[in-house]
Amino acid sequence: MAPAGDASRHGSGDGIFDVAIIGAGVIGCALARRFTLAGARVVLIEKAADVLDGASKGNSAILHTGFDAPPGSVEAACIAEGYREYLEIRARLNLPLLKTGALVVAWTDEEAATLPDLIAQARANGVDDVEPLTEAEARRLEPALGPGVRAAFRVPREYVIDPWSAPHAYLRQAVENGARLMTSAPVTAGVFDGGTWCLETPRGTVRAGLVINAAGLWGDRVDDLLTGTTDFTIRPRKGQFVVYDKPAAALAGHILLPVPNKVTKGIVVCRTAFGNLLVGPTAEEQEDRERAGLVPETLEALIRRGTEILPALKDHEVTAIYAGLRPATEFKDYRIRVEAARRYVTVGGIRSTGLSSALGTAAHVHRLTAGLLAGHQAIADPVWPRMPMLAEHETRDWQCAGNGGIVCHCERVTRREIEAALDGPTGARSLAGLKRRTRVTMGRCQGFYCSEALAAITAGRLAVPMTADPTTAPPAAAGGEA
Ligand SMILES: Cc1cc2nc3c(=O)[nH]c(=O)nc-3n(C[C@H](O)[C@H](O)[C@H](O)COP(=O)(O)OP(=O)(O)OC[C@H]3O[C@@H](n4cnc5c(N)ncnc54)[C@H](O)[C@@H]3O)c2cc1C
Repeated sequence: MAPAGDASRHGSGDGIFDVAIIGAGVIGCALARRFTLAGARVVLIEKAADVLDGASKGNSAILHTGFDAPPGSVEAACIAEGYREYLEIRARLNLPLLKTGALVVAWTDEEAATLPDLIAQARANGVDDVEPLTEAEARRLEPALGPGVRAAFRVPREYVIDPWSAPHAYLRQAVENGARLMTSAPVTAGVFDGGTWCLETPRGTVRAGLVINAAGLWGDRVDDLLTGTTDFTIRPRKGQFVVYDKPAAALAGHILLPVPNKVTKGIVVCRTAFGNLLVGPTAEEQEDRERAGLVPETLEALIRRGTEILPALKDHEVTAIYAGLRPATEFKDYRIRVEAARRYVTVGGIRSTGLSSALGTAAHVHRLTAGLLAGHQAIADPVWPRMPMLAEHETRDWQCAGNGGIVCHCERVTRREIEAALDGPTGARSLAGLKRRTRVTMGRCQGFYCSEALAAITAGRLAVPMTADPTTAPPAAAGGEA
């Protein structure tokens, strides 16, 4: 398959890509951007009809500082670098940042006893601006906190971002600078002939000089498929969430974190960039890599925990529920491995911090493979696409002239935003993808009022057409989204 559309910026166009990246989650999108900007001819291959359809579709959207990452780990380094680069580039890409800060709250004496160690760990990870707080100080910062707070500490630079506009921006920047995106293209086989990989997909054979496996929840299986071996096993870890209506967001200024344990960061209460309040996620191991089922009893328990943390939540309504799957493994750290002889890289087990680390992970992998990609010139003057701004605290398109009118009134999504999200090589190809790009149908009525108009606008433009009736529409995505 020839690298359509990318030869202009990248030379010969001999039909062989420099790099084939398998998996368009947040990690694959960040890798595509990094390698493209560095001058490589890149193809990003995704099995789903749209991008961000795996682990990256349902997370907490926290831009972590890495204060609680294992010191010295690859994860800690990638988070620190990814965090820094997000702050550096976000304004040029028009990406939001909700400057919340986080409070780690101890609710028992045992938890309070662990705070000094956590503060020391944060400092060891270079997060040296954490501030220990007494109960009274924590309450002064967060007056709505429930009874039982023993002590806390503040992490001023933990923030909330838009979990989808960031990876979409990385992808758009890659594609607008010459990368190729192939969707509905599961890699089903591959052969390395000593110099070049031939990857088989239902959309044709892709040839590339280097393969990067960024297949998230399927990372071990793709290793097996292409190399006959893997050194980790994915153990999907489900996280269920409850999303509250926008008035609830006034109850918490900070991200309210529990004291983390060895398995999970625990149940978080935080605002979202879209103006809601989130409670979750759980951490439940399961076999299924595709479906993140919602369990009524678990969601009720989440609501109970949320109202223990913020008692006033009992007066607020739930907008939506969703769940995501973390690509956890038997190891605590990421599984990043370069096989130079076979020109093959695994970027696996990016379990619960990939949104924050993605840019850093991509830079790390690019450095690790520098010797395999000699001779490229970084693009001197790359294109910087500006993303549609969907954050509630910023100016939205409905407030700007010429937007074609509001289609989704709950989330105030305009016709112009929807049309733009359907356009171009990185445009939405599924209803779930359209939601992630615009927020359409993600508000209080969950599409009850706007589905008819939306079905008309999207007719013939999605892989699976949507119906006018939201109750009979095909499931947007396993687990749905906030
Ligand atoms: C509940 C929860 C909460 C989280 N909270 C946060 C948070 O607050 N902050 C944070 O930084 N991180 C958070 N994360 C972590 C973050 O979401 C993940 O680390 C990240 O999404 C992993 O991305 P990935 O690209 O590795 O995998 P994925 O998103 O799974 O992407 C892999 C892609 O590969 C594709 N694929 C698989 N097999 C093939 C094949 N054979 N051919 C082609 N394509 C293939 C899949 O379809 C998929 O799109 C959270 C995750 C969860 C689930």
